[in-house]
Amino acid sequence: MEFIDLEAQQDQIRSDIDSAIEGVLDHGQYILGPEVEELEEGLGSFSGAEHVITCGNGTDALMLSLQALGIEPGDVVFVPTFTFAATAEAVAYLGGSPCFIDVEVDTFNLDPVGLEEALESRAELRERAVGVIPVDLFGHPADYGQIREVADEHGLWILSDAAQSFGATRAGSRAGTLGDVTITSFFPAKPLGAYGDGGAVLTDNASLADTVRSLRVHGKGEHKYENTRVGMNSRLDSMQAAILLEKLTVFEEELENRRRIAELYRHRLGKTVAPPLVQDEVDSAWAQYTVKLPDGTARLDLRSQMEEAGVPTAVYYQKPLHQQPAYQEYPRQGGQQSLSVSERLAQRVLSLPMHPYLTEEQVSRVCRTLAAALQPSNGAQAF
Ligand SMILES: *Cc1c(COP(=O)(O)O)cnc(C)c1O
Repeated sequence: MEFIDLEAQQDQIRSDIDSAIEGVLDHGQYILGPEVEELEEGLGSFSGAEHVITCGNGTDALMLSLQALGIEPGDVVFVPTFTFAATAEAVAYLGGSPCFIDVEVDTFNLDPVGLEEALESRAELRERAVGVIPVDLFGHPADYGQIREVADEHGLWILSDAAQSFGATRAGSRAGTLGDVTITSFFPAKPLGAYGDGGAVLTDNASLADTVRSLRVHGKGEHKYENTRVGMNSRLDSMQAAILLEKLTVFEEELENRRRIAELYRHRLGKTVAPPLVQDEVDSAWAQYTVKLPDGTARLDLRSQMEEAGVPTAVYYQKPLHQQPAYQEYPRQGGQQSLSVSERLAQRVLSLPMHPYLTEEQVSRVCRTLAAALQPSNGAQAF
């Protein structure tokens, strides 16, 4: 059993992918070829975002968005501490100051109450604050309604990190339309993954979209050799766009499968562990199926026991960002205090195999293996 089975997906669409790649080899426009524009249109109609600008990867998409939003050295941008490093990295790399906020224990997402607390209690943050980057962790959109209220009150923009949630919905709106700007990633293991790196910026803001289009080609003006701003080189290549176009044709169906598998997990896991919560009006993209183990579980032992039984697992994330060596000096909600929810989650989370081609039998096997590994001999206590 694979943790994420890209081969099973490839088996379904291999011949279409072969001819898509052949198409690129035939026309030879390897960079910004016709497939790129076609994909941008496809992603737009899929998500409902008016403008889609593809680029080199999800991290670049964050950088391009932040630059287009006008981030300046010293600006404070709020980010959840329980996320992949890229979310905070893009802010810090551009000279901004990521301020770490704790997450909600049930959704693993940025806690709007924590955001408000940070803004209300700390004038030095409030004065330098420009925006917030909610992350839709594991595919479940953050609470944009509440985050929007706090953001509006303090004049902050919202950059949505939908690297894991492309295809998810909240209150009838798809990821791509939930923030002022949204980024996503086409890293192979993401819900919509390429066979290499790729990313995109999505927005309804036409002038912001124009700026991102310029920034991804060295800050180009009317043409390629006129430079109106300092930009970078970050484009999606035609080959990856061609592959993504094929994957987009089965994506809706794959999302359905992921949802069905998540339901199966919820039933089969029973009360052995805490299953992930799905809030009202949310359809998760189920990038990961992440459970919380009972307090005191020896996770390392449990994982090796499961590995021996042929069930791969992963831990996202071992350490919240505010505890990582590179990010310890940046501000956090509540001064030097701990961000206790994230710190506790980092000890207790476990991600189980999740992909659209898992069989019912495989889900049952994962659940049986997990239950066996959780026996009291493991030191586990009840919740
Ligand atoms: C994967 C990921 C990114 C970065 O995407 P890349 O394409 O790998 O650069 C950013 N944020 C989150 C939350 C991610 O999971």
